[in-house]
Amino acid sequence: MAILNADLHCHSVVSDGTLTPEELAARAKANGVELWALTDHDEVGGQQRAAAAARAQGLKYLTGTEISVTFAGETVHIVGLGFDAQDPRMRQGLSATRGGRGERAREMAAQLAQAGIPGAYEGALRYVGNPELVSRTHFARYLVEAGVCKDTAEVFRKYLTEGKPGFVPHRWATLKDAVRWITEGGGVAVIAHPARYRFTANEEYALFTELKAHGGRAVEVVTGSHTAAEAQRYAQAAQEFGLAASRGSDFHSPGESHTDLGRLPPLPEGLTPVWDLLADRIQ
Ligand code: AMP
Ligand code: MN
Ligand code: MN
Ligand code: MN
Repeated sequence: MAILNADLHCHSVVSDGTLTPEELAARAKANGVELWALTDHDEVGGQQRAAAAARAQGLKYLTGTEISVTFAGETVHIVGLGFDAQDPRMRQGLSATRGGRGERAREMAAQLAQAGIPGAYEGALRYVGNPELVSRTHFARYLVEAGVCKDTAEVFRKYLTEGKPGFVPHRWATLKDAVRWITEGGGVAVIAHPARYRFTANEEYALFTELKAHGGRAVEVVTGSHTAAEAQRYAQAAQEFGLAASRGSDFHSPGESHTDLGRLPPLPEGLTPVWDLLADRIQ
């Protein structure tokens, strides 16, 4: 089933995407996606709409989320697929993970104001679809609107990241808890875009080993944020660690995302596609 056009990572207005779950389902269908998952950050509020829209479009669907985790002092993202989105343990865990975002956003805005950019909290809020999910992406959109940067990529080079104005360190969920919420609900926990983390070899080894020890079973190999060489590298890592492989665009917005829904290379040969582990969870 490795040649299936699966896109198991994207964002809607329920987190930091700009399209609704219905618009994403239609776009996925138009782009030839066969199996889809909406993976909003720290949220399952869009899951019912996404599953219904997938059904209306004739797409196979897996429930999804992308959980923010703090591991070895760095933010790591763990994608959950195929879990029960109604499970109260998942819902409470995600709600607690979202909890600090409002205060963090106010601190980000205070730093930006000190750097000469006033009104960023109010500005970012105008881009927010879910009041519990103010993210750096919404600030980035406001900084572009305000003419501070030409695009969101420039924002993340100059602001909102470690050592730059507007960066507020934050403690997210633990790896253990995130994997537990996903697996207790019958899903599979996946390391998202592993090439994006600034880990030493030892830290990366620890991430893969601990994910497995907690019951995680997959890693993203083909994603919008990996080069072809990075996909090869993590294909090898998947085999070495005995993990299944996932594929997802991480699409956020037509204007911002360079990889569109479903427009990704196939998984490299010889890997176990994550959807083979989730055959009984596909809706
Ligand atoms: P937050 O969860 O509030 O820390 O926001 C994280 C989000 O910011 C990610 O999910 C991306 O959507 C966005 N982001 C982070 N780094 C970058 C980057 N270098 N370029 C574009 N978007 C980024
Ligand atoms: Mn995002
Ligand atoms: Mn991510
Ligand atoms: Mn993502």
